[in-house]
Amino acid sequence: MIKDIKGLHHITSMASDARDNNRFFTDTLGLRRVKKTVNFDEPSVYHLYYGDEQGTPGTVMTYFPFPHMMAGRAGVGEVGETQFSVPKGALPFWKDRLSAQGVGGIEADTAFGANRLRFSGPDSDGFALVETADDARTPWITDGISDQVAIRGFSGARFNLHATEATEELLGFMGYERSDREGEVSRFIMPGGNGADTIDLVPRPTMPIARQGAGSVHHIAFAVENREKQLEVRKALMDTGYQVTPVIDRDYFWAIYFRTPGGILFEIATNEPGFDRDEDTAHLGEALKLPSRYEPYRSRIEEKLAPLSA
Ligand code: ZN
Repeated sequence: MIKDIKGLHHITSMASDARDNNRFFTDTLGLRRVKKTVNFDEPSVYHLYYGDEQGTPGTVMTYFPFPHMMAGRAGVGEVGETQFSVPKGALPFWKDRLSAQGVGGIEADTAFGANRLRFSGPDSDGFALVETADDARTPWITDGISDQVAIRGFSGARFNLHATEATEELLGFMGYERSDREGEVSRFIMPGGNGADTIDLVPRPTMPIARQGAGSVHHIAFAVENREKQLEVRKALMDTGYQVTPVIDRDYFWAIYFRTPGGILFEIATNEPGFDRDEDTAHLGEALKLPSRYEPYRSRIEEKLAPLSA
């Protein structure tokens, strides 16, 4: 069994409009944009990262905004809901704020004993704010969102699956422990994780397979401390029969990817080197950062990218 995974690292989704996406995460939700770069495989498209002050693993939501991308269709084989942790008592504030800003799909309920506020992102992305006691992570603070209510990072994610057995086995192998069950939803928790520690599995045997598009989660990444641990995790996964990519340099972390039996693309990402690798913490996310191989084409790339604010 793998012992080195510490919870989530980041979640990466797709969007249809970079400016709307940036406004929603930095203004509506009050996260910090910690990196403005491009999709390393498609440099005409942004890759935007939002999180806490440093972009600490377990807080980082990232987006590929493909201009005018078709909407995804929710289904099985994907992350259906990305969950953020907020302090106890914060949800009335968020309900008012999200309503006032015209956010859709707002619905309050409880799950596993915690108050939850579900809502939709600009591309109908499935989100929830979950009240969490004793989340010691320090939030990024913006105008109008106080320390008493600000998002601490992810609490976890909910997977919609045709069947859950194979994913249950994989999560167990990755070091997750089976926790409660509520109705048909099974919860798994990473002991000693970074705060972004819960994975909920929902069986949806009659739901069609998801069609990826704007608003869909592209992949979900799990955190390991460093490259050495990553290689150990890679070997353990390969020895168990998973097809894992070679280690890929993503400038701010090192990544390996593998497709899981339930259809979701998993990544294992390192906590090193972090988002301050190429700019000061005080100015994270302000300038357009390019991997060195695209630096010679900077002016051509910048021409194709719409400004994020008017
Ligand atoms: Zn990733």
